[in-house]
Amino acid sequence: MAESEYSDVLIIGAGISGIGAAYRIHEKNPKLSYRVLERRARIGGTWDLHRYPGIRSDSDIFTLSYPFEPWTRPEYVADGPDIQAYLTETARKHGIDRHIRFNTRVMSADWDSATDTWTVQTEIAGGEPTTYRGRFLFFGSGYYNYDEPYVPDFPGINEFTGDVVHPQLWPESLDYTGKRVVVIGSGATAVSMIPSLSEKAAHVTMLQRSPSYLLSTPRINPAVQAFRRVLPRRAANAAILLFAKFLTVLVYGVARAAPRFSRRYIRSHAKSKLPADYPVDVHFNPRYDPWDQRLCVMVDDDFYEAIAAGGVDVVTDHIDHIDATGIVLRSGQRLDADVIVTATGIQLQALGGVALSIDGAEVKPQDRFVYKEHLLEDVPNAAWCVGYVNASWTLRADLTARAVAKLLAYMDSHGYTHAYPHLGDVPMPEKPAWNINAGYVQRALHALPKSGTRRPWNVRHNYVLDSIDHRFDRIEESMVFGRVDAKSTQTA
Ligand SMILES: Cc1cc2nc3c(=O)[nH]c(=O)nc-3n(C[C@H](O)[C@H](O)[C@H](O)COP(=O)(O)OP(=O)(O)OC[C@H]3O[C@@H](n4cnc5c(N)ncnc54)[C@H](O)[C@@H]3O)c2cc1C
Repeated sequence: MAESEYSDVLIIGAGISGIGAAYRIHEKNPKLSYRVLERRARIGGTWDLHRYPGIRSDSDIFTLSYPFEPWTRPEYVADGPDIQAYLTETARKHGIDRHIRFNTRVMSADWDSATDTWTVQTEIAGGEPTTYRGRFLFFGSGYYNYDEPYVPDFPGINEFTGDVVHPQLWPESLDYTGKRVVVIGSGATAVSMIPSLSEKAAHVTMLQRSPSYLLSTPRINPAVQAFRRVLPRRAANAAILLFAKFLTVLVYGVARAAPRFSRRYIRSHAKSKLPADYPVDVHFNPRYDPWDQRLCVMVDDDFYEAIAAGGVDVVTDHIDHIDATGIVLRSGQRLDADVIVTATGIQLQALGGVALSIDGAEVKPQDRFVYKEHLLEDVPNAAWCVGYVNASWTLRADLTARAVAKLLAYMDSHGYTHAYPHLGDVPMPEKPAWNINAGYVQRALHALPKSGTRRPWNVRHNYVLDSIDHRFDRIEESMVFGRVDAKSTQTA
């Protein structure tokens, strides 16, 4: 059997998190070797996988791109293929692409405390399974199952004679020109896809069980253009990033602090953009407050414009069953369709589905508390990079990558070969790690690691507090460090 390759750091995934981690770890620890293991054939993760019409970011691209590689194009929200190209170019520019093994899916990782190393088993598309060894494991594996999106069991769906597609598995060959399309769901994916679908389809219906909040953002933000006109390039990039962060925090903060004001604002905006007799309160006035669930973003009011142009309908109702030619609703109404798009969401998955063990004993992520939002209780030398639900993923992913880079430098300078957070016997009340009432979160809370209620075990999705914490971080807090030869440990 071939000898397994060793790297100081093994990074799983070549999406935003994995590429960002490679950059930050190498920046602070240039002597450490690293390898990126990626199950797909290309860089990009989410932005490579999703190919549906209209795929774009719904948070601004300036906070979704890396602070070390500013977004230079004009748009404020970016199209999926442009994000994929940006990630590919970033990896190439910084030599990260040379460290990636593509088509390499990590199946399991076992920690050996006799040698302080991880042994990682992979499956190679069309090749022999390979083993990698490493000192530190960085999970940039995202947060959902790539193979199986979430599709509820709609009665009769197998009777339907048209095409049924899920956005996550969009067939490039699908031709919906001149067809009647029904999109089931009203989340970010449906809202970004529908204006685009309506350009070619005969008609598009968005079928939702209950309304969502829609906010509009300009594709080209005049403030960004103004910064670029008056400031030198580097200063403009810094100012734009600060502006985008400020706007993110402001919109979320206002929504939470003044929900009635936010509701009124969103509703009156809908009224002003939709036809005079449009039933805004039926389709766009949710029962919950803004940001109890994720807010959906339109670009330049494109969704409302598509409705006003007559190409798109919204129906708020429940599915009774599906038959050969369409969907029968509980109200008795039917929606005839040639194509049904099940924009019904993702399935959360911890650690890229990798089976984790320590000295052969299984580790269940859901049994462990999360430490400083990226390490797992009593799991040595491993981090899972998870972004925010209420702000751009990269704001958190970059904090995580920098925290891991710092931890590695600290371990190196002290000669430590392992480090893990330890709660011990301290009682720690639990709260949901993802405190948002979205279907995909509620369905999978049991599969996610636990959040405590006090730092450093508190997952709070708060960029402002996290960045302050990061600046004043005490690396030793609640950590156990040690080295393999001496087997001596130091608990802080
Ligand atoms: C449709 C959609 C739109 C989104 N829009 C936004 C947005 O506008 N703003 C925002 O902030 N967030 C958004 N998100 C969240 C989004 O996933 C993040 O923005 C970000 O792309 C996550 O990056 P990641 O690298 O952590 O994970 P991913 O992009 O999911 O990448 C994970 C990578 O790890 C690889 N991988 C996983 N498991 C394994 C394994 N076992 N072995 C080897 N490789 C593995 C995958 O192949 C993939 O390449 C969106 C998500 C979806 C699904």
